[in-house]
Amino acid sequence: MTESTIKQLKHKIEHDVVDHTKDGRCIRCGMCCPDILPVTKNELITIKRYITRCNVIPIRQVECDKAGRPTDIRLQCPFSDEKKRKCLIYSVRPEICRLFICSQPPDVIVRNQIDCSINKKDSLFVSMHIAFLNDELYMQTYSSHPTWKNHAVTFVKFDI
Ligand code: SF4
Ligand code: SF4
Repeated sequence: MTESTIKQLKHKIEHDVVDHTKDGRCIRCGMCCPDILPVTKNELITIKRYITRCNVIPIRQVECDKAGRPTDIRLQCPFSDEKKRKCLIYSVRPEICRLFICSQPPDVIVRNQIDCSINKKDSLFVSMHIAFLNDELYMQTYSSHPTWKNHAVTFVKFDI
């Protein structure tokens, strides 16, 4: 990652990341839980084992009209339970989730993101919907999404 890319990332984080904490503590609002995360295959395997053992069902973040056609696709992690304000896989959440808190200085957020992505040999950016729900709708969404369509992001269907 070049210096200018890191600067851009820092600039984006300074503008996009909002501090939702209360007295510096995470309130588990889930506002920081995107569908695309830098994770390792081992982390995915650990999550898969956990959700199988504990019967955790990922939440598909799609709203449909009466005819069943999708009207809104939220690009949010399928393990973020908005109603209960909790992470459904909290004890096995990926390292990027463990390190992040929205009250951190932008420098720290950027460093952690780099450490969990390009500095980790086996890390890939994956869509949690595609990895755990094998969701074609999300595949189509990303392939036409203004941010993601031209990126060399690997949306892997893991055999996990
Ligand atoms: S770290 Fe995430 S879940 Fe916690 S308060 Fe900030 S935005 Fe909400
Ligand atoms: S795994 Fe949990 S903490 Fe991480 S993005 Fe998903 S809901 Fe949020």
